[in-house]
Amino acid sequence: MAGWGLRVMVLIPRLRLSAGSSCSQQQTVARPAAALRGAEACITVNAMYVDSHAHLEGPEYDADRAAVLERARDAGVRYLLLIGGARGPETLGAAVAAADANPVAGGGQWIYASEGIHPHEASRADASHYDILRRLARHPRFLAIGEIGLDYHYDHSPRGVQREVFIRQLELARELRLPVIIHCREAWADLRAIIAEHWQSSGLGGILHCFSGTRDDAFALMDCGFLVSFAGNITFKKADALRSVASQIPLDRLLTESDSPYLAPVPHRGKRNEPAFVRETARALAELRGVDEAELGRQAVENFKGFFRLPEGRSLSPSR
Ligand SMILES: [Zn+2]
Ligand SMILES: [Zn+2]
Repeated sequence: MAGWGLRVMVLIPRLRLSAGSSCSQQQTVARPAAALRGAEACITVNAMYVDSHAHLEGPEYDADRAAVLERARDAGVRYLLLIGGARGPETLGAAVAAADANPVAGGGQWIYASEGIHPHEASRADASHYDILRRLARHPRFLAIGEIGLDYHYDHSPRGVQREVFIRQLELARELRLPVIIHCREAWADLRAIIAEHWQSSGLGGILHCFSGTRDDAFALMDCGFLVSFAGNITFKKADALRSVASQIPLDRLLTESDSPYLAPVPHRGKRNEPAFVRETARALAELRGVDEAELGRQAVENFKGFFRLPEGRSLSPSR
């Protein structure tokens, strides 16, 4: 479709829209002219989403990275947070470099960066990496330190080292006055203890990415200033417990993410993920909550924008 905005003629009371069920964010709902007499309104509704967590620097995207970003733009992704460094401390800077590359029509001003030493890679961290993070944080679209945290499922690094590197990065984030992006798997008791002791008093909060904890974990950490971000695994058949938690998170604390290239949501499960697919996660969350997909997407965008105090996301008005 040629137009960019989702132009919808809406009668009052407002139609409940479920935008984005097709491949395009743009849907025109045309009403017969006769039906438009009387109390009518014409508003523009844009399907909009936030992808609060994606890894796009890897070889999975070497052949079509620009096209992946174009599809994200076309799907209505207003903010994209790229996560750098997760493949090892030697890859720190990947997200900042990608945010600078601006490969998408209209510029890359909607693409932001976060960098951190992943718990899997904690045993490979040395003093130089903290200096690199300090330098990267000067980038104007650098939003957070992360992903950082604890992963006791894989135990790729010894747990004591994971805790040490996590705490050190929390201290760095406090020094830089930046929020943190948390990765936590099967380590919630330790995570909560460390946040309470080393982070809560900063008042900086952060994002619990790809949340997999309990309702109690979520609420305890929301009290410490965290938003709760859900990924494509919320759409998986066996995710009833996670869906139950997601249905109880206040709408103004919810975020959506792709966690590309991992965890592609149904119906893309098993394939390479990409930011455009975040709408499937938004749709699943909206269904759980009994709200419009458009409303859920917009709320998550607002949550992200408000938390990081960002300017208006990339305009979807025609720029060609
Ligand atoms: Zn993670
Ligand atoms: Zn990640």
